Amino acid sequence: MKKKKEMIYPEVGNELLQTNIKKGLTTEEAESRKKIYGNNEIKKSKKVNPFLVYLGQFKDILVIILMCAAMLSYIFALISASRHNWVFDTELIVEFIEPSIILFVVLTNSLVGAIQEIKSAKAVDALSKLNPLQAKVVRNGILISIDSKDVTIGDIVMLEAGDVVPADGYLLFSSNLSSIESSLTGESEPSLKDHLAPRDMQLPLADRKFMLYSSSIIATGVGYYVVSAIGQQTELGKISSLVSQQKEAMSPLQIKINKLGKIFGYVGIALFLGSMIMQILFAIPNTAHYKELYFWSTVIINGVSLAVAAIPEGLIAFTSIILAIGVQRMAKKRAIVKDLMAVESLGSCAVICSDKTGTLTQNKMTIIDLYNLDDKKFSNNQINNNYLKLIEYGSLCSEANLSLENNEYKPVGDPTEVSFLYELEKYSSFKTKKELEKQYERIHVLPFDSDRKLMTSINKIDNKLKVIIKGAPDVLINRTLLDEKSKDKVLEINNEWANNAYRVLAIASKEITKKELDILLTKDLDYQLDFLENNLNFDGLVAMIDPPREEAKDAIAVCKMSGIKPVMITGDNINTAVAIAKSLNIYNEGDLAITGSQLENLSDEELTNNIDKYSVYARVKPEDKLRIVNAWQKRNQVVAMTGDGVNDAPALKASDIGCAMGITGTEASKQAANMILADDNFSTIVSAVKNGRSIYQKIKNVIQNLLITSIAEVILVFFGLLIFKFVFKDWEPLKGKDIYILSATQLLWINLFTHGFPAIALGLQNSKEDYMNKRPISKYESIFANGMGWNTLWQGTLIGILSMISYYLGALWSFNNNDTGEDIIRSASTIAFLVLGITATFNSINLMSKKPIIMSNPFYYWKVYASVIFSLAFLLLVAFVKKITVVFKGYENLINSPTLLAYGLGLPLILIPIYFVHKMFLLLLEKKKNKSNLIKDFQMILSPKERKMLKK
Ligand code: ATP
Repeated sequence: MKKKKEMIYPEVGNELLQTNIKKGLTTEEAESRKKIYGNNEIKKSKKVNPFLVYLGQFKDILVIILMCAAMLSYIFALISASRHNWVFDTELIVEFIEPSIILFVVLTNSLVGAIQEIKSAKAVDALSKLNPLQAKVVRNGILISIDSKDVTIGDIVMLEAGDVVPADGYLLFSSNLSSIESSLTGESEPSLKDHLAPRDMQLPLADRKFMLYSSSIIATGVGYYVVSAIGQQTELGKISSLVSQQKEAMSPLQIKINKLGKIFGYVGIALFLGSMIMQILFAIPNTAHYKELYFWSTVIINGVSLAVAAIPEGLIAFTSIILAIGVQRMAKKRAIVKDLMAVESLGSCAVICSDKTGTLTQNKMTIIDLYNLDDKKFSNNQINNNYLKLIEYGSLCSEANLSLENNEYKPVGDPTEVSFLYELEKYSSFKTKKELEKQYERIHVLPFDSDRKLMTSINKIDNKLKVIIKGAPDVLINRTLLDEKSKDKVLEINNEWANNAYRVLAIASKEITKKELDILLTKDLDYQLDFLENNLNFDGLVAMIDPPREEAKDAIAVCKMSGIKPVMITGDNINTAVAIAKSLNIYNEGDLAITGSQLENLSDEELTNNIDKYSVYARVKPEDKLRIVNAWQKRNQVVAMTGDGVNDAPALKASDIGCAMGITGTEASKQAANMILADDNFSTIVSAVKNGRSIYQKIKNVIQNLLITSIAEVILVFFGLLIFKFVFKDWEPLKGKDIYILSATQLLWINLFTHGFPAIALGLQNSKEDYMNKRPISKYESIFANGMGWNTLWQGTLIGILSMISYYLGALWSFNNNDTGEDIIRSASTIAFLVLGITATFNSINLMSKKPIIMSNPFYYWKVYASVIFSLAFLLLVAFVKKITVVFKGYENLINSPTLLAYGLGLPLILIPIYFVHKMFLLLLEKKKNKSNLIKDFQMILSPKERKMLKK
């Protein structure tokens, strides 16, 4: 009897996993199991609770003070009402409405903030769904690829190097299978798996060689296993529900903005306190005020309103939403960015290291020449048995497939291998690989790997066991029995072809005995490789062409124009690589090309010092990519690196922008990368860089927009009060009166309608600007670089001063009109409100483009215009509708006072010519700079330290 404890899973076909080992589940069975067991998913994030997000908006201390102050105002209003025996006159009504407006603004502001936060969380969430993990399962007897989440209990899953294990299960078959289980056990070395190992469930997880665990990565070999647990039930699912959620990492820009936000927080508190002190001091002649509760509530409300209005509290939310929207747009352009941090790195990307095959070339291989020691040339259709042998050997020693469906060829697998199958179909009597394998049965295979650069198969040919090997000539030739002279001849042909940009493969073979095979199959991989891949007979060389991608050529031109260095890293021959690099303009006069073995002889220091000179790396191993990334990073450059294999994962992880191939890439490489190229195309990286740069500029625009208004508000309200207290010193009607520049409600209203909508529109607005004629944005660059700091300062100051002038003119007009002191203040503040509001909204139109407003097409920028019209409508409502004006402590009679109207609506127009001249000047300056500064060569981005050294 079987011991139950040890043999929890004795054989496939028990009740739990009932399945057919050979045919797998049927579609119907899989569907019905999915209904019972659910999706194969591990719940990662808690659902966003909109209510909690909304509540979260009230964490800001200033917002809390403001709400408390509003509540106090209600209480004072109630006290007033009781004093007035509950007879409601206009003044009393205003007392009630004022705190209501404050609450309305605070609540709406928080709502806008919450909506943004939810939207950006959703966008980030949607990203993870863009690139679902795939799994190869046997269903209805056919191997198909499905979304990992659809894998269910009892599925038979096929795995090979580079795959990610979709769920837990028991091995049915394995050959050289090893998997990296670091996500579960922390062990980063691959652990060997064996379907024959004793199935002892008492063993610790890491020692169960017969089991595979969800999320581990297959490092070598192939295997089939049956799924026993999915989703939350897997070992990983069990711990992941225990482990608390990881916090979303922040990008350097978000960190910078967060810091800025903190500084603003302090400035806000300072403004709040400063404003209160000022109000208290100014009330000195009327110390009686101090006894009134109403005075204190007004002091607090004014102080907090100023702080709230002046602090661009939406900065962080705006940044993440712009990043998230940008990422969605990139996905439409086939660049699937997995984390927001990569967006920013894209903007600063200075080097793109790219694979050759498939990324820079079309990966459409066509055999155009064959060679064996007797003769050469295949192109003139002199097909003889020698050539046919090479084609058939190449086809036998491959994993690819080619089928004719509806008069169209359907290639599956590596294009290098498919190229043999096309020739087979054309010239051999065996039209397909299936027919060929029927005749020459496959006994064993050691798949191609780019470390070894060889592939081996054993087939039964004419009742003999034939070992067939194909691979890189320079590797394979030395393993043949050719004499030195012949070797030289072969290598000479190899070089000649490589110089023509051909990809060259050598084919060799040997016979082994049945006994040797039997021994071999009991030995480990190293033994097998050593035994099979040495002492070979040379059969011939095969040349194939793989034309460069047309769009890659253009993309490389764009790289060069924008100060980015394109670098080719390939496993191919150095001459082939250089020839293609030359045709694509990656390799120019004076550049260096280096092979993997030469690279091995370079120390890390030498490599780092000369890293900018190398444009082509050939015959490199995936591990070398990591050294190249490290060397660039030691020189402080932001590097993008492409990769597709499981061995590329470390380099993809280490680089600033790891780009995995969407079509040909392994799941492991996709997991390690932070961007996936859905079309495997180099030009997609370049267009993503362009997007990264434009997103950075958008964020800058929004920040600038918010800060200009803030500065203007502080200047007007804070310094204005100081100045006008002095200016109005001798104005008779104002003696003993409370002076305010803007009422708290006016200020908050401006904040709501100038900080919110135009900023969102600016973030959504595309620009016509060419971001690819400049060098990459240095990662050391402050957000305020390139004049943004100064522009923000002077434009904010200008608007502040203009509003102050308008305040003075309004007051003067009312004074000359013999108005009461109260009316003087009201007309002055109404005009300042109008001028500040209009100029602040207008400011976003100014920022939307580099060109002067009259030179840019309003239809293109309709989003910004629409938001400005919307905001202006709400501002004008407050200024012109009498009943509303009263509530905001404004001047009721504005509509009947042409002079005041002219001030309020006319003064903002002054900005148009000023901004026009400024922009024209900047455009001229840039033109001049661009002319003298055409980017001709790559230059390292320098750190501040290096720059200082250089200056010295
Ligand atoms: P890249 O790294 O740019 O994708 P690559 O595809 O040429 O370049 P590898 O796949 O590492 O790089 O191939 C290296 C060499 O191995 C090739 O130059 C070729 O000679 C040989 N080779 C490529 N594919 C196969 C294969 N399927 N079987 C045998 N040898 C191959």
